[in-house]
Amino acid sequence: MLLTQELVSRLWADMAAKDGFRVRRKRKSALMHIYAAGLSTIGVCSGKTFWKHMVTTTARTIYVPFTPGSMKSEFSLLEQVVVLAHEMQHMDQRRSMGVFWFGTGYALSQKIRCRLEVDAYRAGQTLYARLTHDRIAPVRLADKLKHYGIEDDLINGYALKRFRATNRKIDKGYLHGAAEDVWEALVG
Ligand SMILES: [Zn+2]
Repeated sequence: MLLTQELVSRLWADMAAKDGFRVRRKRKSALMHIYAAGLSTIGVCSGKTFWKHMVTTTARTIYVPFTPGSMKSEFSLLEQVVVLAHEMQHMDQRRSMGVFWFGTGYALSQKIRCRLEVDAYRAGQTLYARLTHDRIAPVRLADKLKHYGIEDDLINGYALKRFRATNRKIDKGYLHGAAEDVWEALVG
């Protein structure tokens, strides 16, 4: 699918309106400065990576280091769409677990954090495949988890297994979780 600046900008706006979340620039947010400090204490990436390469989601807001639809950022248009599915999956997790249990589990348990991130990356993984007819290597996806303070055993075991299994399901046209909503919005 050809992603244009207009299409990506509209997609973010449509999803935000439909799902009831806001999109804000990360740099401008005081809350994100607090998050940056908190995340670095649990070993989740900090510094330049956090501010420039990571999108961060709270209960009702997605904090982005780019303007959706703009090409003047470290995120390509494709990456802006894939990351939207990832963050919307996190919002779904919050809704089903409750904000308290999501936050506590994410912060205090590497195992839970690993499961939540793998689940969100699977949304991006399946959407990427649908958009490009290509696959992201499971090892590359698993490598990303190293930025989240997750131990190698979980990454090389649980995470890698899930990403491999997901790539096999893609052969049958599978879209994971929020990837389905994003895809519908793109083609609908
Ligand atoms: Zn995530």
